[in-house]
Formats: sequence, C-alpha cells, structure tokens
Amino acid sequence: MSGIALVAESVQSVRVEVRERGYEIRIGTGTLAGVGEFLKECGTWRRAVVIADAAIVGTHAKKLLESLDRSAIAAQVVSVPSGEKSKCVAEAERLWKKLLQLGADRKTLIVALGGGVVGDLAGFVAATYARGVPFLQVPTTLLAQVDSSVGGKVGVNLPGAKNMVGAFWQPVGVLIDTETLDTLPAREYLSGLAEVVKYGVILDAEFFARLERDAAALVTKEHGVLREVIARCCRLKADVVEADEREETGRRSVLNYGHTFAHAIEAVAGYGELLHGEAVSIGMMCAAGLAERLGRVDAEFVERQGRLLAALKLPVDLPSLDDEKLLAAMAHDKKVADGKLRFVLPTRLGEVELVDGIDSAHVQASLQG
Ligand code: NAD
Repeated sequence: MSGIALVAESVQSVRVEVRERGYEIRIGTGTLAGVGEFLKECGTWRRAVVIADAAIVGTHAKKLLESLDRSAIAAQVVSVPSGEKSKCVAEAERLWKKLLQLGADRKTLIVALGGGVVGDLAGFVAATYARGVPFLQVPTTLLAQVDSSVGGKVGVNLPGAKNMVGAFWQPVGVLIDTETLDTLPAREYLSGLAEVVKYGVILDAEFFARLERDAAALVTKEHGVLREVIARCCRLKADVVEADEREETGRRSVLNYGHTFAHAIEAVAGYGELLHGEAVSIGMMCAAGLAERLGRVDAEFVERQGRLLAALKLPVDLPSLDDEKLLAAMAHDKKVADGKLRFVLPTRLGEVELVDGIDSAHVQASLQG
C-alpha cells in the first residue's frame, strides 16, 4: 500500500510530514518490548516520564519500562485515573507539579501510554510544561491507534466544553503495539472499528472493500490483519493532517463524517450510555440516510455501509430518542453555519463533501429512518 513501508515482516511504518518536522508511526505486534530501540531512532534521551492509564500500569507500562531500562533511559511512571474525567485542567496541573517534583527538564521525554484520554492529556502537558517538551505516543486503544495519536491535537476539557483548551503539538514518534489490544474490553475494541470504517467511507473505497473481506478477522483481533488495517488508517489520517495540520483549510473536516449526529446522540442518550464509536456507527448510518434522501447516494450505498458495521458487531439503529432534542443538540454543534445545518456527506464510497444549508426537515426525516 502506498506511503506505508514494511520495516520487517511484522512491522509497518507510516511517515508523517508536518511543518516543524516529520516523525514515524511504527506499527507492529510485540513492539512495546522494543520501545527503547525505536526511541534511539527518534532522538537521544537519557530520561523519560511515562504518563500511563492506571488500568495498564501493571501490564503494558511494566513491559515498556523494561525496554527503556535495557536502552539505559531512566524512567518513572506517573499513573492517571482511567476515564474521560481525567482529561481536565486539574489533572494537567497535578502532572505539571509532578514533573517539577521529579526534576523533569526540557531534555526529559514524556511518554503517553494509554487511550485517547491519556494521549490528549499527556500530550497537552508535554506541549505546555517548560514551554514544551518532546513526547512519544504509545496508544493502547484501537481508537487512539487509528485516530487520536495521529495529527498532533492535544488538550483537555473544560466543564461543558470538550477539548476547549489545547494545542497542536506533534510527537517525536508514535509506537503502536497491536498486542496491547488483547487486554482491551471487547466493547471498547469494537467501538474503535467504527472509526476504521469511517476512513474507508470518506477516503478509500478499496480499503472499505478490504474491511468487508476481513470483517471476521477484525472481530477476532487477528494481529496480521490489524497491523495492515491500522497502518492504512494512520496513512489516511496523516494525509489529511499533512494537508491541513491546523484545521485552517477545512480539509480536516472530512474526519467528522457521522460525528454531528454522533455528538447529538451521545448528548441526548446521556453520556456513558453509548461508547463514542457506537454513536459514530449510528451517526454514519444517519448521515448516509440523509445523503440518500438528498439524492447524493443510492440505497445500495446505505445498505453496504450498514452491512459492514453490523458485521463488525457495531450498532446501526438509532435508539428511541426525542427527535426535537437531537435537532436542538445538532444546532448547538460547531458544524452549524448561519443557523443552517452543515454535514459531511458521502457522494460515493471513498468520497465525502462538507454540505452547507441543509434544511432541518430533511435531517428530521432522516432520524425517522
Ligand atoms: P480512553 O482513553 O478513555 O480508553 C478507554 C478505556 O480503555 C479506559 O477505561 C482505559 O482505562 C482503557 N484502556 C486503555 N488501554 C487499555 C488496554 N490496552 N487494555 C485495557 N484497558 C485499556 O478512551 P479512547 O476511546 O481511547 O479515547 C477517547 C478520547 O480520545 C476522548 O477524550 C476524545 O476526545 C479523544 N480523541 C482525540 C482525538 C485527537 O485528535 N486528539 C481524536 C479522537 C478522539
């Protein structure tokens, strides 16, 4: 596949070129044990602070520390309580103070080990501590491996305002080990597959067809298939990021396919009822239904997308929620221009467009199936 190098039989590599400097995303199975070696290729470090999700301190963090030790990088682990509530200013402040107490300076490498919550939080702490220190992303959820660890967006939430404070801060590298997914709860793992399908729909019809062929292998976490699929997702996201690193041209908005509906569904269903990827799966079905209603795609497109999502054990039907509340939540979403609704909609498999000025009656009708 283009833009993806095979480092060894079981290791893939994706290069991300951004303004300041490029970096590598390395994807393999068992790569955590080689993090020290990987780091030698990204720079020279003698000290690291590993900011790790509490759920994996005894497992994956241990393996990572052993590798750093073998490479003579002195490292300490700071654990972060699991869950979105840790992505806040108070937790960032606790980490800044902890880094100070540990004597971390601008030559200290921060390692973010965990899902999107730890990646965003530790990345933000790295972007701000001592006016910015280098950091390595070691994502351990599927969502973080295919999405949040790529692109350099880091940040924390304010009460009622997600990702409101943050920065664009690129890592020195991203190391992905598919073995970390073995301990991930099944629902979390499957939820990450919704973002994988999204890449196929928005950017790559051939990749979508590959997902159809490999759906069963993906559900059972077959590592060989996972490595290739994760590498392709990283390549596709990196292409978008390279074209619009700081969300200035609008190109990055294609990544929001299904998300306007998903955010509304999450808000109205009550946060925590559905995992984000589950809401994205249903949101993509709503967006495809809306596109069909507007004559942009045919019924076969909608059915094909639904068949793949269902084969990946993802929900495709909108739970019974109040339409008015869903519409009101969408009107509050940032993708509203001049009071008219705006959606990323498909034109065909592998291609989407940002469509402005959509009548809310069409949106309401698409919510009713
Ligand atoms: P998460 O980080 O909360 O992880 C999900 C759960 O899995 C947590 O309970 C965690 O403790 C657990 N976990 C993590 N790795 C594990 C492993 N290997 N084994 C067992 N358990 C493990 O959630 P997430 O879905 O990874 O990320 C969601 C976050 O990502 C949100 O805050 C979202 O805003 C952010 N995000 C950021 C970007 C970006 O571009 N920066 C993009 C998409 C999403």
